[in-house]
Amino acid sequence: MKVLVIEDERKIASLIRKGLEAQGFVVDVCLRGDEGYAQAAARPYDVLVLDIMLPGRDGLSILRNLRDRKVPLPIILLTARNELNERLEGLNLGADDYLTKPFFIEELIARIHAVTRRASGATRSILVVGDLTMNLLTREVKRGETALELTPREFSLLEHLMRSPGRVLTRVQICEQVWSYDFDPGTNLVEVYVQRLRKKVDADAAVKLIETIRGVGYRMKAQA
Ligand code: CA
Repeated sequence: MKVLVIEDERKIASLIRKGLEAQGFVVDVCLRGDEGYAQAAARPYDVLVLDIMLPGRDGLSILRNLRDRKVPLPIILLTARNELNERLEGLNLGADDYLTKPFFIEELIARIHAVTRRASGATRSILVVGDLTMNLLTREVKRGETALELTPREFSLLEHLMRSPGRVLTRVQICEQVWSYDFDPGTNLVEVYVQRLRKKVDADAAVKLIETIRGVGYRMKAQA
């Protein structure tokens, strides 16, 4: 897997390089936007990790030009907390995903796997955690042999949890992914939905799959 990283903060760029190389990825790093764009346009990569604020040429302009030229490269944006508008614009311009700094390298690796799977058309259509299965095409959800009736929001929430078993999703991440990008952090929307989901998914089962990480968020039980 060949990854191009366009990131001008040397420290972040070097952490990404080390983390990805440890996973066996081949990594090229560009510290300037103009050089990065030339590199992305000229050579075949499996994924581009793209910062937004860059010297030489900004990330959104790089993204726009690659998409205008129909370069099918999966692109993950790196954004700062306060770059909400840029993040939304990036998604509209055709970015495949984004990560907000600071992030754990494990998160970036998971996103890279997800976008490259999607790009190769080999998206898993069935998610499985223990005896819980979710068919993304027919939208059927089963615990063991029992079919579960979920609302679209509950389905989406469960899908996000099932996509990365063992990984904790914070309430903010869940809100961003299942609802919208701007929400009132004081709301207990997520708690309410997790409770509803638990009643359907876990109430009658000996093994509880939806775990609460106190003060942090929720996760799907890691696979045995
Ligand atoms: Ca930057």
